[in-house]
Order: sequence, then structure tokens, then C-alpha cells
Amino acid sequence: EVADVREIVSQVYNNFKMIKPDFVFLLDDDLKGRTPVKIYRNHLEQVLIILMDNAVKYSKNRKEVHLSVSRDQRYVNIAIQDFGEGISKENIQKVFDRFYRVDKARSRGKGGNGLGLSIAQRLIEGYHGQITVESVIERGSVFRISLPIAKEDTVKKNDSLEK
Ligand code: ATP
Repeated sequence: EVADVREIVSQVYNNFKMIKPDFVFLLDDDLKGRTPVKIYRNHLEQVLIILMDNAVKYSKNRKEVHLSVSRDQRYVNIAIQDFGEGISKENIQKVFDRFYRVDKARSRGKGGNGLGLSIAQRLIEGYHGQITVESVIERGSVFRISLPIAKEDTVKKNDSLEK
């Protein structure tokens, strides 16, 4: 399935704005138009929800989340940035591990099993993409996804075949 990244990102962004009215969400959309990626749309949606949900959950007092989408020749890049509690250097390698949670006692109240990021990573890598994180403790985190862009003409061919 070929999904339009721009459309899915803006849908998730609008849903979060609606569900979390006490947060400020910003969307920086650098894509000039439709950006097709070979991915099942529910899978991309799922990954974005996991990352946005974490950004909100671990944001502490600064209730602001920035979402950005851009592209180069071959890849579309999505970034989700929060200004919350951040992740220490010793923990950052482990956040993609199954069942890993940085501080079990402290984050117990926030729910979750430590599965979200490992699922997100498996999904993205399954589509030949990458997911990375940069973080500064007490400053915040940015999670980045990149996915290979599908050739637009194959999309058009398929579309016209269906008509
Ligand atoms: P769930 O299974 O519901 O997603 P979870 O949030 O604990 O629960 P992951 O999404 O896999 O699980 O995240 C693993 C751990 O990484 C979290 O418990 C948290 O400690 C840390 N983490 C993830 N995202 C952030 C973030 N944006 N800021 C700070 N810490 C984060």
C-alpha cells in the first residue's frame, strides 16, 4: 500500500490538538505536496501516535510538542520534539528495547508497558526506514523517523489501472 505521509501526519496532528487541548502542538510542514511512501497507513499512524503519546506523557510542565516533516531526494523525514524530562545518556540506548522503561517507579503512574518504542522501531525498520532519538535530560527529546519515498509514477499507474 502506498500512503501519503503528509496527509497522515496532519491527521494525527489534528487529532492530538483535539484530544489534548491543554497542549501547544506546532506543525512545520516542508513537503510541497503529496509524498508517497510504501507503508500500510495504519502502521505509520500507529508509529506517530506512539511517539506523540510519549512526547505528551513525558513532557512535564512544558506542554509543547513540535512535529515536522520534510524530504530530500530519497527520504521523507518526520521529527517529534518535546521539551520535557528527556532521557539520560545511559538510558538512551535502551529505550527501544522491549519492556524497557527508564524509571519504573516514577513512570508507573503514567501507565504503559515499555512496548511502544520497540513496536515503532520494528514497524519502521520493516519498511526499510530508520528511527533515532536525541535527548538532553531535563531539556527534552526529539525522535526522528525517515522512510524511503516511493516513486510517484508507480502510484499514478496503479491509480489509473483501478479506474
Ligand atoms: P507504552 O508501552 O505504553 O508505550 P512506555 O511509554 O513506557 O509505555 P515506550 O514507548 O517503549 O514505553 O518507551 C520506553 C521508555 O522510554 C519510557 O518508559 C520512557 O521512560 C522513555 N521515553 C519514551 N519517550 C520519551 C520521551 N519523549 N521523553 C522522555 N522519555 C521517553
